[in-house]
Amino acid sequence: MTVSLDIAKPATGSVPLEKTALETYVALAKPSLIGLSREQLAEALGKIGVKPAQQKMRAQQLWHWMYVRGVTRFEQMTSVSKDLHGVLDQHYTLARPEVVAEQVSVDGTRKWLLRLPSGLQGERAHEVECVYIPESDRGTLCVSSQVGCTLNCSFCHTGTQRLVRNLTPGEIVGQVMVARDRLGDFLGMERAQGPGLPTEGERCVSNIVMMGMGEPLYNLESVRDALQIVSDGDGLSISKRRITLSTSGVVPNIQRAGDEIGVMLAISLHAVRDDLRDELVPLNRKYPIKELLEACRNYPGVSNSKRITFEYVMLKGVNDSLADAKKLVQLLKGIPAKINLIPFNPWPGSKYECSDWEQIEKFSEIVFNAGYASPVRTPRGRDILAACGQLKSATEKLSARERMALRAMAMTD
Ligand code: SAH
Ligand code: SF4
Repeated sequence: MTVSLDIAKPATGSVPLEKTALETYVALAKPSLIGLSREQLAEALGKIGVKPAQQKMRAQQLWHWMYVRGVTRFEQMTSVSKDLHGVLDQHYTLARPEVVAEQVSVDGTRKWLLRLPSGLQGERAHEVECVYIPESDRGTLCVSSQVGCTLNCSFCHTGTQRLVRNLTPGEIVGQVMVARDRLGDFLGMERAQGPGLPTEGERCVSNIVMMGMGEPLYNLESVRDALQIVSDGDGLSISKRRITLSTSGVVPNIQRAGDEIGVMLAISLHAVRDDLRDELVPLNRKYPIKELLEACRNYPGVSNSKRITFEYVMLKGVNDSLADAKKLVQLLKGIPAKINLIPFNPWPGSKYECSDWEQIEKFSEIVFNAGYASPVRTPRGRDILAACGQLKSATEKLSARERMALRAMAMTD
């Protein structure tokens, strides 16, 4: 099957709002079972001759082996008959995205470069990155939703990438599988050793942030289906409260995300005035701040115990004045909110600088005095170019300056 070429609306104004085409995705001849819902899994078993009366039970068995045990070969499923191993093997795999590079930072942050099938012959391979950030009380995995991004936020490296395609549910779930494989974070597996990793007994991957490459609300169905699998209590079992979806503000899909996915929401706000936000996040021209905040007020399930996180990247001389800070807290009045100040991560060719540290502290003081916790966090993963907005699927030379925002991305309270 080929899914392709969704032509986006023409741009308004000087900065193109969205890129025009989606790349092709061609399904594999022997598909992976990773990423199928329970029902789809039962159907897949039906197709290879498992009798209807047995499909549900068999699907449940496979589900356990796949998502609790993390097996990669059918023959490891010891409660499944040898005959069925053989038939499964002929038609399906348990493949995850292929890891082409792994980098481990001195602080334990890990970044994996993953290669995905690109479909067309001769076309460059599609690649995404996935980042793991261990902390004392949690381990956060930053997951991508698209190869590249159709949006063009002016401070974001991913936005400069030409290739764009939506990831399938299997490719999204596959990132979590890869992380758990590499960390030995499945039942009965030997734990990876390294700095910052939790001790035996605790989960390595306890939290997920949909903050890697791409705009998750432009791939809503696949993200939804993937997160249902990731949060399934009999499988990967990461609670929806520990999953945060970040959006640049696709207003019509915010309500749907609340209704259909029900995870924590983060909004990439970054500016308090429309003229500036139009420039930083061009999607603002379609969905301005007022509409965005209205959608946040109405986000299903929002409450003081389920706050919305507002991300604000600190750009020197652009959006970091104290007047901006005051306007920010005014704007968010009445919305159960957290504010996440993200030090800007520069990338080769970026036109912004990160705000000075003193300015970030002053800014954060205003936010703090208004009743919001706004810890300014220590840099993570900088030596491996793993911080927010730096993900761009190329193994690039390490920069000395880019780790600052990663911890902010880990969304620690
Ligand atoms: N597309 C979604 C999610 C991916 S981006 C979104 O925009 O929300 C994840 C977060 O990293 C967003 O808040 C984004 O604004 C921020 N970000 C992007 N580039 C950055 C950079 N260079 N420095 C710091 N944060 C950046
Ligand atoms: Fe896309 Fe988010 Fe980057 Fe904007 S900040 S270009 S929406 S990934």
